[in-house]
Amino acid sequence: MLQPVAIGSKLLSDYTHIVGRDLIEEVRELAAPLEGRKVVHVSATAFGGGVSEILYTLVPLMKDVGLDVEWQVIYGREEFFNATKLMHNALQGAPEDLTEEHWATWRHYNEMNARELASGWDVALIHDPQPAAMYHLVPEKAKGWVWRCHIDLSTPNPDTIGQLLPYIRDYPQSLFHMPAYVPGGMSGTVNIVPPAIDPLAPKNMALSPEDASYVCAQFGIDVDRPMICQVSRFDPWKDPLGVIDAYRLVKEEIASVQLALVGSMASDDPEGWDYFNATIAHADGDPDIHILNNFNNVGAIEVNAFQSQSDVLIQKSTREGFGLTVSEAIWKGRPFIGGNVGGIPLQVEDGVSGFLVDSVEMCAQRTLEILRDPELGKQLGRRGKEHVRKEFLTPRYLRDYLRIFTELLGEGSQPAAA
Ligand code: UDP
Repeated sequence: MLQPVAIGSKLLSDYTHIVGRDLIEEVRELAAPLEGRKVVHVSATAFGGGVSEILYTLVPLMKDVGLDVEWQVIYGREEFFNATKLMHNALQGAPEDLTEEHWATWRHYNEMNARELASGWDVALIHDPQPAAMYHLVPEKAKGWVWRCHIDLSTPNPDTIGQLLPYIRDYPQSLFHMPAYVPGGMSGTVNIVPPAIDPLAPKNMALSPEDASYVCAQFGIDVDRPMICQVSRFDPWKDPLGVIDAYRLVKEEIASVQLALVGSMASDDPEGWDYFNATIAHADGDPDIHILNNFNNVGAIEVNAFQSQSDVLIQKSTREGFGLTVSEAIWKGRPFIGGNVGGIPLQVEDGVSGFLVDSVEMCAQRTLEILRDPELGKQLGRRGKEHVRKEFLTPRYLRDYLRIFTELLGEGSQPAAA
């Protein structure tokens, strides 16, 4: 019942010219003793959002360095995803908690999936709260267990985290993006490891300015006029309505500005469509606001083109676990403005490699500064890109996982039986 995800192939050696030989060699040295180890990644969806984005890169690279890796998606129906969406929001601070019935649904689907999970793994790597009960339910199915938390647990709804804690606290190894996200009461080894982006994925690979503008023009963008852009799911915490408000303030001063809001819809996100419609209503028919999603054929290359073409890239979140879109944007070398929340300040140093803002007004102000001073934009973009190169590209992330696997499996331990 768990669905295996078909992944492509990637070669670590292709990354050498981007991240440098030292890191690549370090990864190979860590990987050598782990050769042939059986690893399963378990997540809630293979479509949309940051987790799947990461796994489409990380899993092929883990394979390339010699691990025997699979990625499996848990089975769930609408009632399960309704419960996990509520859980996701409550864990990131929304006041509404799950009812007893929601918790029962969550446990029920975890039990079903735990039963169906094959045995004999060296490492089971469980992503996010949706399948988090697996370790508690079937610890014997893998030698080593890891829980990867991709969300911001700094101010969770206390009842929700209280109910979840017994299922996550005993994982022998867990990973969080930042120290502030680690809930009190974790008993295993806690690792602070931010995620990373793939510089060679179609979304992030180098695109010529001509190709970028050619793609944007096909979506009705006037490539001779300034454009600002935010790429993200349609979600209140990504604040697309605030981006529209900031754009309106900018437009009062620079009438030619255009806004692109690019957002994919995830299969485990039933609220997404409501918020998408609310965003369209807020745009109120303005022909210079372009609201696009993956159902209008906006895929990875289009996201790349929009980011590469923009004069200012925005991620005006009011809450953000890490924000892969931030590193993705900055990697394009364009000036970036982001909300001063969650993982965004990890990726941007205010005034050096972009700007951090706390309000619609500040966002508009900084946008105007950049649009009026292209040299400033270039400098911010250049410094930002170097920071991402050092800290937030996949080979670094792969290295961190390999270190954790090494610790988990211990020196000289025998691989799981095939
Ligand atoms: N994304 C995309 N197309 C879109 C909107 C988002 O491919 O129209 C991708 C985005 O590029 C990023 C991921 O979805 O890789 C979102 O991850 P992030 O950490 O920014 O936020 P999350 O959605 O996980 O909260």
